[in-house]
Amino acid sequence: MRSTLFSSPKKIIFCKTCVLSNQKPVTIPEFTHTKDRKGALYTKINSDGICDACKYHKLKYKTINWKEREKNLLKLLSKFRKNNGDYDCLVPGSGGKDSAFTAHVLKYKYGMNPLTATWPPILYTDYGYTNFKNWLDVGGFDNITMKPNPEVQRKLTKLSIENLLHPFQTFILGQKNLAPKIAYNFNIDLIFYGESEAEYGAPIKKNLSSLRDKSAYVAKNLKNIYLSGVKYQNLIKDYKFKKNDLISYLPITANLLEKRKNLQVHYLGYYLKWIPQENYYYAVENCGFKARPYRSQGTFQKFQSIDDKIDDLHYYTHFIKFGLGRTSHDVAKEIRNKI
Ligand SMILES: [Zn+2]
Repeated sequence: MRSTLFSSPKKIIFCKTCVLSNQKPVTIPEFTHTKDRKGALYTKINSDGICDACKYHKLKYKTINWKEREKNLLKLLSKFRKNNGDYDCLVPGSGGKDSAFTAHVLKYKYGMNPLTATWPPILYTDYGYTNFKNWLDVGGFDNITMKPNPEVQRKLTKLSIENLLHPFQTFILGQKNLAPKIAYNFNIDLIFYGESEAEYGAPIKKNLSSLRDKSAYVAKNLKNIYLSGVKYQNLIKDYKFKKNDLISYLPITANLLEKRKNLQVHYLGYYLKWIPQENYYYAVENCGFKARPYRSQGTFQKFQSIDDKIDDLHYYTHFIKFGLGRTSHDVAKEIRNKI
C-alpha cells in the first residue's frame, strides 16, 4: 500500500467534540523536520472518539487545581528571583497577546525582572509592528531583538517552501532556538514560554510537567540537523551557505548547556489557566495590544497570529498538507474554551 505524504495517519478520523482530525501534526523539534516526517506524531483521537486536546481541556476546566499550580509557580519564582537588579527570567515573544500577558504578569504581579527576546516575523504586518512596539512602550520591558540576515532568510524560506511546503519554518526555527542562547549569554537560568503544546493536541503527558522537553531546543551535534529539509552539511556543501549564515537558526549545543545545568525552560500555561480570550483582554488593557479591525485571511479571528504576513500563507499550506485550515484551528480553540 502507498504510504501517505508527511507520514500522516492513513485513515482520517475527526474528533467528536471539536472540529480537528488526526491529521493535525504534533510539534516536532523544528530542526529535525524532513520531507517524509518519519516518526512524526499526529493528534491522537482516543477510543471514545475524543482528541487529546479536548481531553486536556476537560482536565483544565474540571480537574487541575489551579490554586495549587500557582503556589508551585511562586516557589519556582522565589528560587530564581534575583534582587541585585539582574534579569532573572527571559520571555521570548513578539508582543502578541500571549507573550504580552506572560511578560506582564511575571513583572508586575509576581515581581520578577524579565528580559524579553524577539525573533521578528519574516514580514511584519503594520499591526504586528505596532503591537511589538506597544508591548515594550506601554508594558515597559527591556528587549533583545535578533534580526537575521535578510538575504539568508529569503534563501532558506524559499528552500523550505520548495522542500517542505513550509513557508513559516525560518520563523519557527528562530523563535524556538533564540531564547536559550540569549538566556545563556545574559546569565539567565529561567525561560518562560506561554501555553503548552498540550493545549493544541500534543500528548497530554506533555502537560504533566511544566518543562519544555530539551529535545526541542538542544542538539547533541550538527550532524542530525536539518534546515529547510536539507542536512546542515549539505546546505554548506551543495547550497554554498557559510557556517556563519546558519548560526542563528541552530539550537544551542548540549556541550554549551552542560556549563549551565540550572537553565530551565517552562510553560507559564502549566501554572496559570490559559484562556486565549482572557489573555487578549489583558494584553489590550496592560500592553496597548490592538486586534486588527478586519478578519485575518481564512478565518473569523482578528487577534491571533496577526504579526506576520507569512501567517496567511502558512495556514493555507497547512490546509493543503493536512486538510485543516485556519478556521478549523480557531473554531476548535473556541469550542474547547467554551467561548
Ligand atoms: Zn477534539
